[in-house]
Amino acid sequence: MSTVLITGASRGIGRGAAKVFAQAGWDLLLIARDEESLKSLEEELKDTPSKIFYVSLDLSDPFQIDKRIHELLGKGLIPTVLINNAGVAWTGDLLSMKLESWQWIIQMNLTSVFQVCKKVVPLMRGKGGLIINVSSHAARNAFPQWGAYCMTKAALASFTKCLAEEERLNSIRACTITLGSVNTSIWDTDTVQADFNRDSMLSVEQVAYQLLSLAQQPENQIIEDLTLMPAAGAF
Ligand code: NAP
Repeated sequence: MSTVLITGASRGIGRGAAKVFAQAGWDLLLIARDEESLKSLEEELKDTPSKIFYVSLDLSDPFQIDKRIHELLGKGLIPTVLINNAGVAWTGDLLSMKLESWQWIIQMNLTSVFQVCKKVVPLMRGKGGLIINVSSHAARNAFPQWGAYCMTKAALASFTKCLAEEERLNSIRACTITLGSVNTSIWDTDTVQADFNRDSMLSVEQVAYQLLSLAQQPENQIIEDLTLMPAAGAF
């Protein structure tokens, strides 16, 4: 049985992915802050054959990460696939940002991914592991009011490519899934001001199935990036 570690698994894309992987027979290691939601997800998946372990972890606190991931990895499952999905958005002019907001979004969307990889990737070496980093079409665009988010996702895409090169000889693959708008709770978060019509956005399930498909690629090939956009276009 294969194991996937998913960050940001309490809601949105991460929760959808956890369900799809469990239905496909994967064991799950899950991370988010909201322990109640993780517990309810475990309950929802109790009829699947999957082993499920989770820890509550605030990825915006760089000093919690090592200890909590260590705890999670101590449950006895070694991840074959790592999905760095947890992420946040912030809207507003770049230069109006408070320093704390700047540091927060970089910690969440970039540094925490680096920290999680530092703990997990060494366990995957030589075993054909795969890292999937959840990026956005914002990585390739300059959207006014979304500059901080664009910058973090562009850096995440670069991090992914460099990591893939460095870990290739260790039989580890790394890729991005680059998404257009997805109908999730991110649009309701306090730091996002946007009132796009969500009807034409991608669904969580559509993204989750693409994540599973990336995870199921043969070990001797890599889809370096999968870009998934709503057919209605970018918004
Ligand atoms: P979401 O519905 O807001 O879910 C975000 C997940 O991240 C939640 O499980 C949340 O769990 C977790 N999270 C947030 N802050 C955290 C923290 N401090 N520590 C640990 N976990 C934290 O967002 P989503 O739309 O599913 O986004 C998932 C990923 O997709 C993100 O990287 C996002 O940038 C990317 N993406 C989304 C879209 C879109 O349109 N939705 C488009 C392109 C890319 P807790 O609150 O329980 O901690």
